[in-house]
Amino acid sequence: MDKSFKYIANKDKKSVLKVDLDNITANDLYNFLSLPENEIESLINLAAKVKEDNVGNTVYYRGLIEYSNICSKNCLYCGIRACNANVVRYELSEEEVVNAARFAAEHSYANLVIQSGERSDSEFIHKIARLLSKIHAETDHKLRITLSLGEHTYDTYKLWKDCGADRYLLRIETSNEDLYKKLHPNDGKHSYSKRVKAIETLRKLEYQVGSGVMIGLPFQTIEHMVNDLLFLKNYDIDMVGMGPYIEHQDTPLYKYKDLLLSKNERFLLGVKMVASLRILMKDINIAATTAMQALNPNGREIAIMAGANVIMPNITPLKYRKEYLLYEDKPCTDEDSEQCLKCLEKRITSTGNQIGYDSWGDSKHFTRRG
Ligand code: SAM
Ligand code: SF4
Repeated sequence: MDKSFKYIANKDKKSVLKVDLDNITANDLYNFLSLPENEIESLINLAAKVKEDNVGNTVYYRGLIEYSNICSKNCLYCGIRACNANVVRYELSEEEVVNAARFAAEHSYANLVIQSGERSDSEFIHKIARLLSKIHAETDHKLRITLSLGEHTYDTYKLWKDCGADRYLLRIETSNEDLYKKLHPNDGKHSYSKRVKAIETLRKLEYQVGSGVMIGLPFQTIEHMVNDLLFLKNYDIDMVGMGPYIEHQDTPLYKYKDLLLSKNERFLLGVKMVASLRILMKDINIAATTAMQALNPNGREIAIMAGANVIMPNITPLKYRKEYLLYEDKPCTDEDSEQCLKCLEKRITSTGNQIGYDSWGDSKHFTRRG
């Protein structure tokens, strides 16, 4: 028998899946995502083995700065969409960003993510460019910087790359164009093909490219999610952040809340997606997202056990955290960065993983591409 074949069995061996690790098919992915709760453990165990063999049991930190909740777009699921009048809008000052970056450098995170609502005005674009240069200068070029600022032109992405952005995270949200249309207004600003093109532009500019999807959306099927995983593979994505969709009452999508799976079911689907992706794309970086923790207090640890190897501790100044509410019950809105750090360290080591302090933890998939 070919060595690469693995059997996944549940504890009482009643159900056995046979997979060829070198050739994971759409059918395998469908079977993984359809596993009932009492059989997930075997999938997690296989993903953990694949992780250990390919990227090791180290979890890398990316200090997350939620730079601004000002957004020009109106994604129907997002709590900080432009039309939500209940949000108090903010933008961090240059000093606040640099202080947060210093915190990340001093605490050996080695990595920073700057995330924000989407704005394409020239003031915003140049502010980000200046911030990138300033952060590198003030932290002795110790930090790798990821941006997550939405869709922009080739020239803007190039400017930011030239100023020192290394990675870019742009979730496709769903790889199904019809579903994408149901999740976004038809106002000329939200286009599936534009989003795909933006991912292609980032690749051309040689960013480490991140993407991802939401899991458990209204109208989403297991077939959609299988295709999401295959999309990430086909676009040769280097790093993935994906997590459960969580409803927010001030958004248009909230009206479909009765169509949703329960929070526990969405969480379990999230775990199965992470494990399946690790088995499919063995050497990429996968984040254990905050949305996983929002649905289960141990959600990020379980995601780490199921194959994730990146975590994004929030280092935004505390006073802004409650204004970056993408969804209900977002965790870590009342713990400062120091408290967050202590609690995280314990949580991660409890999974048998170590923390990659002072390490960039670049995606092996990216470095291997050369
Ligand atoms: N504005 C940029 C963009 O959309 O790419 C970056 C910031 S945006 C808040 C980051 C991610 O939040 C989105 O890609 C989306 O997947 C996620 N998000 C927004 N609303 C959400 C919700 N209700 N539940 C789960 N994730 C959500
Ligand atoms: Fe704006 Fe991003 Fe939220 Fe869409 S998901 S409304 S682009 S912050």
